[in-house]
Amino acid sequence: MNSSRTAGFARFLCCVVCLFIFDGFVCAVTAVTCSSPVNAEAEPVEYFVSLADPANHLAHVSIRLREGDGRRTLDMPVWNALYQVRNFAANVENVQAQDASGAAVAVINRTTSEWQISAPGGCIVVSYDIHLEAPGPFGSMLNGEHGFFNWAMVLMYSPALRSHSSSIRLLDVPTTWELRDLHVLGSAAPGKVDQTLGVARNYDELADSPAELGTFQESRFQQDGATYHVVVSGNSADYNMGKLDETLAKITHAAVDWMQDRPYDEYTFIYHFFHGPAGGGMEHAFGTVIDVNADRLRKNLMPVASVSAHEFFHLWNVKRIRPQSLEPIDYQREQDTRALWFSEGVTSTVSDMLLVRAGLIDEQEYLRRLADNITELQRRPAYLWQSAEESSLDAWFEGIPFYRSPERSISYYNKGELLGILLDLRMRQLTNGTKSLRDLFQWMNEHYAKQLRFFPDSLGVEQAAEAVTGQSFADFCRDYVAGVKELPYDDFFQFAGLHVVHTITEVATPGFTTTANLGGQPEVAQIDPNSDAQRLGILIGDRVTAINGKPADEGLDDELSRLQPGSTVRLELQNRRGKRQAELRLGAREEQSYQLQNLATVTPEQRAHRSAWIRGDDEVRSAH
Ligand SMILES: [Zn+2]
Repeated sequence: MNSSRTAGFARFLCCVVCLFIFDGFVCAVTAVTCSSPVNAEAEPVEYFVSLADPANHLAHVSIRLREGDGRRTLDMPVWNALYQVRNFAANVENVQAQDASGAAVAVINRTTSEWQISAPGGCIVVSYDIHLEAPGPFGSMLNGEHGFFNWAMVLMYSPALRSHSSSIRLLDVPTTWELRDLHVLGSAAPGKVDQTLGVARNYDELADSPAELGTFQESRFQQDGATYHVVVSGNSADYNMGKLDETLAKITHAAVDWMQDRPYDEYTFIYHFFHGPAGGGMEHAFGTVIDVNADRLRKNLMPVASVSAHEFFHLWNVKRIRPQSLEPIDYQREQDTRALWFSEGVTSTVSDMLLVRAGLIDEQEYLRRLADNITELQRRPAYLWQSAEESSLDAWFEGIPFYRSPERSISYYNKGELLGILLDLRMRQLTNGTKSLRDLFQWMNEHYAKQLRFFPDSLGVEQAAEAVTGQSFADFCRDYVAGVKELPYDDFFQFAGLHVVHTITEVATPGFTTTANLGGQPEVAQIDPNSDAQRLGILIGDRVTAINGKPADEGLDDELSRLQPGSTVRLELQNRRGKRQAELRLGAREEQSYQLQNLATVTPEQRAHRSAWIRGDDEVRSAH
């Protein structure tokens, strides 16, 4: 095969050309050798990343290891942050190494994601090109507009030196670009980025500090003694920076107040507001990266507020209050964990509460969201056979459309969020409203996060609930967390004067169900036997790109269900065999919905319980 040689030649040409065409772009790659200038205190691992070729989405990485014996190993992670194996080594090419004298030394691919370098002892430099064209907070992107880097997708690590400190320097950065990362590199003005040196205590810290480069908008605000940075890559006409700051200030204050803790001095929100399919956020210890489709911001900032509150609360739950099963990180294979129902789902429980405390949603909206969550779970038959813990364990399958079908899986976000609510209500029931989820999180923060200990997954949550209330939560965890016992909603909501009302209506169905992975286009996950969809040969995995000439998005199933049964829709579909159109006649099906309604009589006590619960407050027990 010689494709990489051809590509390399094309790139060489491009670079020569772009030196003349694109003003401001530097295209020659700065060479890194063992004898190039060294900082006074060189770290055991030094990373240099050249951005000389954004037009081809290529970064050139050099890794200098100053010490070592005859055989060195470098690994590329197969996953990072997002719980999906993505084999980042597939984007790597042209791996080379040289010794202290500058002579080439042998590099062998030992496994798909591991390279072995045989060289004399002492300094070596390993270099490679990496193709970065994955958008989103879980991705890494280099193009003419901007650069965004999740370093575990870009940088190999030395297993022997993973816990040692490393430095990182960006080279050949377009002169108009500025820099902001979450922790390690900080910020730099245009023309100054190349002079910035970041030092991470270890590889994990570097992986937790993604960087944004480009011509972004930036603002900052001070609150509760901390500085918050807000960085937006996008068109400033699509949103209002002042309103964004105001919204974030309300959320961050609500969370700091709720936790009675602020384990950082600076926190950075990086946003990508682009047009087209986008969605999702990724949490980090000192910031978050969030993508929202710019079209969704036109009306208001709620889509940003909801995901920002969720990611922000993660700075405690999962980043610092961290399950043992996620540590130490195994970058080379799936990390088996049964704790995501808590780390993800209960993060959503709290973030909706924080939106209420921040004054961004009211009680009614909170209860509407809660009812939608109940509806979502109850509509997936798999809730009868997949537990919240099993759903956590199988998070790694979520990239596969069949796995996401309602008969195959539930979502640990969805059931976890409900379990957080029920856990909170049970703690309140048992203590007459004086202890709650807030106490549980503060307890876990004191006993695990602040003592730099990890909690023993679901058992740790159970023990925390018991420590706070003095009552047993063994049955709760056995039946609803590890087990698949039907959630007896009314037993919990009665405390707040509410009950769940179940309705069945007839709605239109296309004869298939879709799911969308990470804000992408909807993909067919399940097909009804004997439906029009089956007769038309629609297959599991087909992507639905448009409906009646309009681009399809993750709300496709809801959109179709609101049409008239018996009417016809025109679908555009795409799979690996190509694109096609289909005229499909909608059938009818029964749809279940759930709502929360007041009990026939709601006592003042139940009203008081309800407002304390929805705001996440403890009730003060009367002295009498
Ligand atoms: Zn999350």
